[in-house]
Amino acid sequence: MTEASSIETKRNMQPAAKLQNEENFRNNFRFDRQLPENLRFLETLSWNYFWSWKPEGTNLFREIDPRLWDECEQNPRLFLKRASELRLWQKALDTSYLERMQIFSENFEKYISAALENFKNISGVNPAAYFCAEYGIHNSLPIYSGGLGILAGDHLKSASDMNVPLVAVGLFYRYGYFRQKINHEGLQEEHYLDSFENELALEPIQDEESNLILISIHIRGREVFARAWLARIGRISLYLLDTNVEQNSEVDRLITGHLYGGDTETRIVQEKILGIGGVRLLRKLGVEPSIYHLNEGHSAFLTLELAREYLELNVNSTFDDAINFVRKKCVFTTHTPVSAGNDTFSPDAIEGCFDKNFISALKITKEELFALGRTNPEDDAEWFGMTPLALRLTRSANGVSEKHGEVSRDLWLEMFPEITKSEEVPITYVTNGIHAPTWIAPVFQTLYEKRIGKNWSEILPDETAWRAAIEKIPDAEIWKTHQLLKQLLVSFIRQKTFSAEIGSHNTINEHRNTNKLFSPDILTIGFARRVAAYKRWNLLLTDLERLVKMVDDVEKPVQFVFAGKAHPQDRSAKEILQNLMSFDENSQWQRRAVFLEDYDQEVARYLVQGVDVWLNVPRRPLEASGTSGQKVAMNGGLNLSILDGWWIEGFNGENGFSLGVLRDEDDTAIEKIDKDDAESLYKVLETEVVPTYYAKNADGLSSEWIRRMKNSLATLTPQFSSDRMLKDYIEKIYQAGK
Ligand SMILES: *Cc1c(COP(=O)(O)O)cnc(C)c1O
Repeated sequence: MTEASSIETKRNMQPAAKLQNEENFRNNFRFDRQLPENLRFLETLSWNYFWSWKPEGTNLFREIDPRLWDECEQNPRLFLKRASELRLWQKALDTSYLERMQIFSENFEKYISAALENFKNISGVNPAAYFCAEYGIHNSLPIYSGGLGILAGDHLKSASDMNVPLVAVGLFYRYGYFRQKINHEGLQEEHYLDSFENELALEPIQDEESNLILISIHIRGREVFARAWLARIGRISLYLLDTNVEQNSEVDRLITGHLYGGDTETRIVQEKILGIGGVRLLRKLGVEPSIYHLNEGHSAFLTLELAREYLELNVNSTFDDAINFVRKKCVFTTHTPVSAGNDTFSPDAIEGCFDKNFISALKITKEELFALGRTNPEDDAEWFGMTPLALRLTRSANGVSEKHGEVSRDLWLEMFPEITKSEEVPITYVTNGIHAPTWIAPVFQTLYEKRIGKNWSEILPDETAWRAAIEKIPDAEIWKTHQLLKQLLVSFIRQKTFSAEIGSHNTINEHRNTNKLFSPDILTIGFARRVAAYKRWNLLLTDLERLVKMVDDVEKPVQFVFAGKAHPQDRSAKEILQNLMSFDENSQWQRRAVFLEDYDQEVARYLVQGVDVWLNVPRRPLEASGTSGQKVAMNGGLNLSILDGWWIEGFNGENGFSLGVLRDEDDTAIEKIDKDDAESLYKVLETEVVPTYYAKNADGLSSEWIRRMKNSLATLTPQFSSDRMLKDYIEKIYQAGK
């Protein structure tokens, strides 16, 4: 792939020429505003994403100027720069505010300075190193696209809360992931925003003389340099590599420009920066990890760099010796249940990316390198896959739910010629979880504080004690808390669609009268996820007449809120969206269905905290785990889902609803499966979900519904927290090696 063509594919992205202007701007821009003396703690706090998972921390910023806070997309660095002097001084004289700040600052100090725990071989001196191509820490740091990133962010937050010695490595994407707009015709349009790194809480990594620390990698026939930024995630350091430095050519400066935005050549180069550059950065920082966790295959080149280092130090050793050494240090998590979802590169691309010196330093031939990335090393036609490379060069591999472990063993059986039965394939599982403090709404946290105690989060891991504690909360309080969140969601929907109104066509994202949109008293179903074929967005629209009947019902109506992005190059996904938008019947659909643009963490928070029901209808067994339903469960919403991914483990018959049947993935035609599942979806909605929701007693409460809510809160909160997940990783994976 030539450089010219790699630039060409970035037509709707930021042209390289613009970089120079921005460079000038950035050099002239400095954050030298002085905050009033007694507000200086805000400056400290703005440099650590810890504030983002503490409601009191978030409030310290927001209440200075709530409207500006949202305008700045809840980015405290930008916010402090733009907050008016008057508001800052008003707060500087607000004693109740200052008291709360004092308490929070003491808690912050205590949190940050707590001692690290040792987990066998994992210690402060030899931490675990976590590698991932994306991180969803907070919406103001837009370097994630979806589930994988959110999971990585939650992993780091739990590691911080649990005092686990862990460092993380990723990439800083200057233009992040694309933003979504829906035009009149219901078609998705994409654009990119520029994140000025000095408006974010990113600290430049420098040496003692304040020179940037640079690492270099041989790519595209020349040395390419990368600098690093530090993001503080509580007690965890997340290092983000960035090729946007003056030592690089314009083209190379854009390597880390866009997340999943470039062509294959850009992608392989990005992965080289992440894997190989990441190891080199850790060396420069003097970090000697005891274990490397490859979260998805994007970072798998790091194994080759570790092998190269080993052979440089042990000149008499062979590549096989090096592999033995590397395998002991590396563990791998796969996230994809279909082979097409795994990154593969042509031999030409690999050859273009790895120069002769690197290959000969590994003491192998080009052909041997290619073979490392094939399921069948002998098959010259097979492309180089990051998953086969990772499976070969790590000592442990796992999927992200029990079912996904099983699917992965089938999928990769052919890599293990000595094994005949897929049960014996050495791939285990750790089921995904979510970071409870990030995702549980502040009002629920307050309710828990009041009813369970200030230490509610310490009770959480004890499933029996937690269950008993939830059961004791009066129905009316659970319901009221949920209704508050639903009311908040309704007003969020009204406001967001009001400002998004751009035309006159009747599509569900353009509403003339948004203050009549949605009602907090109507059963609300949320459906938000990537627009990909296997997620089956169309399933709900299979029988429009039946759907409209539910929506229009006078006594027991239903309303729907949708959100999700389609891959920019995926035409059929965009058509699915358009189809949903242009649904234009003479019904209440226009008032009771809405599509929220630009699904991100912020939109997700309102949705998962405010809906009654979260719908998920993937084609089995393609949902590796899913985590959005876990967020809903922790906020009192009920899942209505196909039994796939995490829901197979989570559903107990009473903590939500299931649909479809658990059948073997035999050769039943897809059309038949879709038809059966659609029928099941309508039936469960009509005969279970709707009647249960509206079966209100004299107090206006549906006791059966609330019983399910409590069951869901009680059973799913401990089971699917990322603290549980991280504990599993430590016990089953990190510590299992020698
Ligand atoms: C939680 C979350 C996801 C993951 O959702 P699934 O569809 O369950 O995989 C994706 N995007 C955002 C913004 C999220 O918050």
